[in-house]
Amino acid sequence: MADVAVELVLRSTRVITPEGTRAASVAVAGGKITAVLAYEAEVPAGARLEDFGDDVLLPGLVDTHVHVNDPGRTEWEGFWTATRAAAAGGITTILDMPLNSLPPTTTTDNLRVKQEVARAKAHVDVGFWGGALPDNVKDLRPLHDAGVYGFKCFLSPSGVDEFPELDQEQLATSLAEITGFGGLLIVHAEDPHHLDAAPVVPGPKYADFLASRPRDAENTAIGNLIAQAKRLNARVHVLHLSSSDALPLIAAAKAEGIKITVESCPHYLTLTAEEVPDGASEFKCCPPIREAANQDLLWDALADGTIDCIVSDHSPSTADLKTSDFSTAWGGISSLQLGLPAIWTEARRRGRTLEDVVRWMSAAPAALAGLAQKGAIEVGRDADFAVLAPEETFTVDPAELHHRNQVTAYAGKTLHGVVKSTWLRGAQIADHGTPTEPTGLLLERQN
Ligand SMILES: [Zn+2]
Repeated sequence: MADVAVELVLRSTRVITPEGTRAASVAVAGGKITAVLAYEAEVPAGARLEDFGDDVLLPGLVDTHVHVNDPGRTEWEGFWTATRAAAAGGITTILDMPLNSLPPTTTTDNLRVKQEVARAKAHVDVGFWGGALPDNVKDLRPLHDAGVYGFKCFLSPSGVDEFPELDQEQLATSLAEITGFGGLLIVHAEDPHHLDAAPVVPGPKYADFLASRPRDAENTAIGNLIAQAKRLNARVHVLHLSSSDALPLIAAAKAEGIKITVESCPHYLTLTAEEVPDGASEFKCCPPIREAANQDLLWDALADGTIDCIVSDHSPSTADLKTSDFSTAWGGISSLQLGLPAIWTEARRRGRTLEDVVRWMSAAPAALAGLAQKGAIEVGRDADFAVLAPEETFTVDPAELHHRNQVTAYAGKTLHGVVKSTWLRGAQIADHGTPTEPTGLLLERQN
């Protein structure tokens, strides 16, 4: 790489590298990081210098849990709007979830349809998860070979008819198949029997909704998943963990060498059940936002590594589906553009560092998906960056969000951390919240 002329040097007094934060100059050529040099390093002839002063240069965030819904439910979201929101929020790579689009990503033909739709609209790099359904076991290997990063399944109803859940026997079958070719299964872990047994009280009270999605549903599903992963020596990932009661199970599984990773989301880590107003279904998602005491334990689990990463689970719908009845409103929270400041605001309050945030929101999700070219400011990786003013604050105005339906649980919140610019393979893709042209690529699993 030394013989490629440096095109760009990005300089900051605070560059977050895998070894820590330091003043540095980052050299870029051909879209890759070619050197991380001393702050005062001479800028090579012909190279452009961008000096960010004391604003922090961090690796672009990797969000492995985004529902783009395109094609098919584009009135909910789409690749153009979702990736613009991502770029504005400091995210440079997203992985799209296989459901809520029509078709869902459950065959290679469907994957190709989705890729064609995404290609010209991607403002950030976009990869795809496949879906594991009761009747598509034969499609899993071809999807793996076609470059999906792994397979998502549900263990309870998904919310859309075209994406049915797996029962325990079907889970075993799919997991054995996926393990046979070295793939990854990512799981919406809520047990249907516990959900069926829980009381459903229609209406606007958040407490009623919370009671309808009990912690035991998560705990039991995760326990069953761990048992299956152990039996098959399979690699599994727990999506959007909310119940802190499952943490000891997960920690024990990890200690035993079971190949399990876990994510949580900004809403579980920054919002609490106690603060959700009656009828405010912009706060509804499944599993639900739980109590403040539960949230404290999730933060402890991030600190000790029981939870690996933080991703958005951005799952929008049109505003009319967000009715005031929690039992029937669409479940999904939109936060793609706000994840970094939301998490940084809470992290700093809890004495955590920006290095921690970068680990949880960039390095760990990149590692989960095997995105070796993403997730760190390091020689040889893609020149993907976010420039953040961590001490600056702003108040969330839904009108400034780029995702399609400007419904958000964060409206009116004052957050720390302003994303000044975002860079993808050495080209600026957002400037003070305004995305530029779509230059994202479609990614396929390489390993
Ligand atoms: Zn989701």
